[in-house]
Amino acid sequence: IKIKITNIDIPVAFASAFEGEIIRRKDMQVEFDGSRVDCAELVHTCEPSEVEDHKITVVGPEVDDMELGSKNSIAYVVKVAGKNMQPDFEPVIERKFHNYINCIEGVYHTGQRDMQRIRISKDAFAAGFKIKHIGEVLYTQVKNEFDAVVDKCEVIIYTDPAECTRIRHEVAIPIFEKRDDRLNTLTDESVDVYYSCILCQAFSPSHVCVVTPERLGLCGAVSWLDAKATNELDPNGPCQVITKERPIDENLGSYEDVDEAVKKFSQGALEHVTLYSIMQDPMTSCGCFECICGIEPFSNGVVIANREYAGMTPLGMTFSEMASMTGGGVQTPGFMGHGKHFISSKKFMKAEGGIERIVWMPKELKEFVAERLNNTAKELYGIDNFTDMIGDETIATDPETLVGFLTEKGHPALALDPMM
Ligand code: SF4
Ligand code: ZN
Repeated sequence: IKIKITNIDIPVAFASAFEGEIIRRKDMQVEFDGSRVDCAELVHTCEPSEVEDHKITVVGPEVDDMELGSKNSIAYVVKVAGKNMQPDFEPVIERKFHNYINCIEGVYHTGQRDMQRIRISKDAFAAGFKIKHIGEVLYTQVKNEFDAVVDKCEVIIYTDPAECTRIRHEVAIPIFEKRDDRLNTLTDESVDVYYSCILCQAFSPSHVCVVTPERLGLCGAVSWLDAKATNELDPNGPCQVITKERPIDENLGSYEDVDEAVKKFSQGALEHVTLYSIMQDPMTSCGCFECICGIEPFSNGVVIANREYAGMTPLGMTFSEMASMTGGGVQTPGFMGHGKHFISSKKFMKAEGGIERIVWMPKELKEFVAERLNNTAKELYGIDNFTDMIGDETIATDPETLVGFLTEKGHPALALDPMM
């Protein structure tokens, strides 16, 4: 019998009430910042003999040794062992660290992988909060929430800058790359099942994401591998298996199995959903899409805006204006919420011609997706440097200027059939 630990041995409170707590610079004792110095957070599957349960080690200075207001390195490796543990579960457990660390009173966490940021408040420090307590929280929560797969758990927290550099570059980044590569080699055709995700029904009651290898959840945080792991960790949880044995139209990405699943998980609100079309029965959106794609009628193309972009798009709408037409778990043909990584997918709007419909993106997003998008365009259409043909806010924020630019570049969308 496994017993849940309800009391965490730390000198400050631990509760979801502290999750939204923000720690301002003037209230901060120290911070850790993965965007400026070497940081990492990692779950690492080990043999049982390599893990000493509940051992917490700090390698490097404690908070007491750090200067008030300073920016420091931190890297924590949570070693886990269990006969049902699989490396595929590692990112699912890691993603919970954000929530665990944020629940500590006077401690704030954002980001993930090697880009996390943590602040410890002066009040928490005065109460006796130390680095080792982060280990205590991670240990307790991982054992509590992942008891189905984690039998033993040990936490090593590095604050020594040289050790953080070593862990980040020699241990964590190669693991992150291996995970990404594994997903990159999977295609929708190469797997037997897709997964539903209904985590967002708390806010959008009829919303269902159908997650496939080439179409991640619209929040950008749930890949097919993540959904698979979530299902195996919690078979009655938010991610359920969707078979794909009865295709209706492979080009649209419509299946009887998918329709049945979507109908069931939306409590009847949705009857038909396609995986690859923005016009015919598009997937619904909740509210946490990383990007929104909407049709731009003058160029026969689509405009994509990401959440971080506050400016105007050639649709005459900002991201939030586009969001107000897209969210809420309803189908709005012509508009679709999606994850950033979906932009370079061969399945992006495949039914309407695919990525060659993309005519405009904010510059920052364009740069973020450029390498992958260019590779896909080369593979699908033989086009070199496709992103150079795509407009951005420095080129045009109105349709006339945009079409002028696209014409000059010979953008392929102009020659396609109108979308409506
Ligand atoms: Fe799940 Fe993300 Fe879709 Fe929400 S947006 S239902 S978390 S995949
Ligand atoms: Zn959502």
